[in-house]
Amino acid sequence: MDIRFDGKTAIVTGAASGIGLAIARDLAESGAAVVLVDLDAAKTQAAAEDIGNGALAFAADVADAAQVEAMVAFAVEQTGALHLLVNNAGIGGPLEPIGNYPLDGWHKVMDVNLNGVFYGMRYGIPAMKAAGGGSIVNISSILGSVGFGGAGAYVATKHALVGLTKAAAIDHSADGIRINSVGPAFIHTPMVEAALDAATLEVLAGMHTLKRLGTPEEVSSLVCYLLSDRASFVTGSYHLVDGGYTAQ
Ligand code: NAP
Repeated sequence: MDIRFDGKTAIVTGAASGIGLAIARDLAESGAAVVLVDLDAAKTQAAAEDIGNGALAFAADVADAAQVEAMVAFAVEQTGALHLLVNNAGIGGPLEPIGNYPLDGWHKVMDVNLNGVFYGMRYGIPAMKAAGGGSIVNISSILGSVGFGGAGAYVATKHALVGLTKAAAIDHSADGIRINSVGPAFIHTPMVEAALDAATLEVLAGMHTLKRLGTPEEVSSLVCYLLSDRASFVTGSYHLVDGGYTAQ
């Protein structure tokens, strides 16, 4: 069973690293015209060139509504339409108890992880409607359904994405647009490796029943399924890829 995206245009945010990079690579290898979006222009261009298959780069900060609007316009101008959107860009933010949580860190996490996903859908959905339909995946986390000490802002945004996804799916089912969220557990990416030392990563590995962290490719497999017509009856739901973390 092969999933193909020939003739489809996809935008992946946060695509120059980690999970987003793996998704962009899989989509491009499966026939999609992919627009990689990330903060740093040179890093994004290098990722697009590495992926090949006609992948395009667009530098944007998803926390800036005007830049997200321009991102969608770029994809439509370059390829003629928008069918698939993965709102993946996200940050971890400060690790502090809520009673001590820095206000600027709180607002930054809200701006990127929550507002950024809203902007992606706000500007992406009209373009998808014009294309006759589409599919959106919002990258939440296991922390969209359980808590994690010290990560209050992150946990709040990832829970919010699960609800936002449900509301948006209800709003746009009649437009032929399916919208789902995905909840990865701890995945080996630069985000996790920069934030946590080796000893902590080993403890975290033990918290998954599979006794390891996941890979970006394992997340991409689920995302690509949800984006594809194989998932034609799947919308408004939250899908875990968590190595058994939340089963316990
Ligand atoms: P990553 O390796 O840090 O990659 C994220 C990419 O997004 C980076 O290239 C980053 O750029 C970019 N980015 C950050 N802020 C942005 C913004 N405002 N606008 C555009 N791009 C921005 O992270 P990852 O681990 O792959 O995480 C990807 C997504 O999966 C995030 O939403 C994260 O919350 C979620 N997730 C990750 C895990 C995990 O264990 N890794 C688990 C569950 C969910 P810079 O590097 O320049 O900042």
